[in-house]
Amino acid sequence: MLLQREHQGDVSLRPASVVDGVYDSIYERLMSLAIAPGSRIPIDVIARELGVSQTPVREALSRLEREGLVQKAHLIGYSATPQLGRKQFEDLFNFRLLVEPEGARLAALNMSPAALKHIEEIAADMAHGVAPVDRTSRYSRFARIDAHFHDEILRIAGNEVIRSTLSSQHVHLHLFRLMFHSRVTQEALEEHENLLAAFRAGDSAAAEKAMREHIQRSRDRLMLAFE
Ligand SMILES: [Zn+2]
Repeated sequence: MLLQREHQGDVSLRPASVVDGVYDSIYERLMSLAIAPGSRIPIDVIARELGVSQTPVREALSRLEREGLVQKAHLIGYSATPQLGRKQFEDLFNFRLLVEPEGARLAALNMSPAALKHIEEIAADMAHGVAPVDRTSRYSRFARIDAHFHDEILRIAGNEVIRSTLSSQHVHLHLFRLMFHSRVTQEALEEHENLLAAFRAGDSAAAEKAMREHIQRSRDRLMLAFE
């Protein structure tokens, strides 16, 4: 989060760390909605505010573009990725419903004690981690850990096509922005617990069912953002 200033003549600071600092700063603004979905991100203004040249800002923005958080348009430049519309939201959840229950079923078949311990720790971190200072950072943190939890299950499932395709959809960014408008968390934690119970029991059919229910209920909770 801390941005190291790029002082003239300071040769101890490698350019990569300047880019990291700029990246963290813009990322934080996107996730806190200080930069609103769809709004422009002027390179010269950001560079001036952060006390750096435009080069690291361009590099940081191109990294954020690869991650789907910002978009670049001809003549307009960079802007924050727009909020999902209802149709895109429904498409995203229909896709998740196609692939994630299958991912959970495969993960149950491949589950090792070490892998189970790892996802149990992620789930516990989600429930009991350090309380963030405000609602925005709470949702942001929740969405990121939730994305990590789901991604780890797909990693354990061992189907890299499913995993990388879902990862390219940047679910956590979109969900975070929707969660901002609706109630979340406690129910999701209970659904994760059902999933973990199926993994502990080595029950692949129960894992598939628990994941389907979790995604359907997440969809129903988040759908309130469109009403
Ligand atoms: Zn979840």
